[in-house]
Amino acid sequence: MTTRTVLVINSGSSSIKYQLVDPDSGQALASGLVERIGEETGAIIHKHGQDVTELAEPVADHGAGLSEVLRLFEEKGPTLAEAHVVAVGHRVVQGGKYFSGPVIIDDEVVSTIERLVPLGPLHNPAHLKGIEVGRALLADVPHVAVFDTAFFQDLPEEAARYALNREIADRYEIRRYGAHGTSHQFVSGEVRALLGREDLKQVVLHLGNGASASAVVGRHAVETSMGLTPLEGLVMGGRTGDIDPAAVFHLWRVAGLSIDEIDQLFNRASGMKGLTGDNDMREVWKRVDAGEQEARDAMDIYLHRLTKYVGAYAAVMGGLDALTFTAGIGENDARLRAELCQRLAFLGLEVDDALNGTRSDEARVVSPEGSRAAVLVVPTNEELAIARQALTLL
Ligand code: ADP
Repeated sequence: MTTRTVLVINSGSSSIKYQLVDPDSGQALASGLVERIGEETGAIIHKHGQDVTELAEPVADHGAGLSEVLRLFEEKGPTLAEAHVVAVGHRVVQGGKYFSGPVIIDDEVVSTIERLVPLGPLHNPAHLKGIEVGRALLADVPHVAVFDTAFFQDLPEEAARYALNREIADRYEIRRYGAHGTSHQFVSGEVRALLGREDLKQVVLHLGNGASASAVVGRHAVETSMGLTPLEGLVMGGRTGDIDPAAVFHLWRVAGLSIDEIDQLFNRASGMKGLTGDNDMREVWKRVDAGEQEARDAMDIYLHRLTKYVGAYAAVMGGLDALTFTAGIGENDARLRAELCQRLAFLGLEVDDALNGTRSDEARVVSPEGSRAAVLVVPTNEELAIARQALTLL
């Protein structure tokens, strides 16, 4: 039996995702998901080794959901006593300018996360529910908040500040906060370990349904593509990424759309979904192979945006030692990695077809030996990163 574990909770508006992590071995001892909280038909799935328990039952609220999860731990194992849970780690998307690292949650931290709701309206209220029920039901251990924005808290001012009227920007706390920071921090650390170098200039591409890029020099992030919200930057599954903000004025004045409609359009009905009707890259590639021009155009828009970002970040850092792919698309889509590196060959980036084409769950280099810059694939593990950050406070 392990000596200590951390229960990691990612509380969404109608879901709770959890993982019991052994931070020393990096293994997940158990994991699960409560879905459709507050709806007529809820669902819970709890995994412990090979043992999978699925329940279909209404889950009234987050408290009821977490109570069920704790019951499943006792019934199906591992019991939390035998797992020796030393902390609960909560993922929090928006930490604004207040948190540059993990913090032990107390009432003051809760009220700051509450104060940040206007900057994280989709996420922070849901995290607060998870924190509230977690602290009530697991009162014996410290609860730690780990913020998606923390890694980008010390971005240089020139990268973090928009060229927006200073007084307005400061009054309404408008600046680039970034997101996916826990992933960018974890992955860039894995790259330094794998390449055995501390002084790397690297770009990390977190390409999932949400997608973001970061430029990291040594241990510090110097640029990131998500901004005030996760809408800015790369082309995503359903989000536009960069777009002229005047498109908002235009859609409002000319198309007569409301602000909420434009918000939905930019955040959910755009990106690959809006360009092709599919937000899953596997489907888009199938359509490319079937000769559909629209699908090929969408891939090119996606790749063009990535090319611009990697090139810009190399310029900002004055060089590039490593480019790393992570998350659902980054880890699995070898073709996209190869096409992007072809576009970026001038930076010394290339993939070895055999290495790039081999599927693996391991962090690995996929560029040929002796390349000017390394290309890597590193599976992200935000739960492990949260667990390890939580431990640093104990
Ligand atoms: P999220 O942002 O929801 O956490 P993930 O990181 O899980 O997203 O990524 C999900 C996306 O990964 C899917 O929408 C799909 O486009 C992509 N994906 C998963 N497997 C593959 C694959 N084998 N090839 C290409 N894309 C893939």
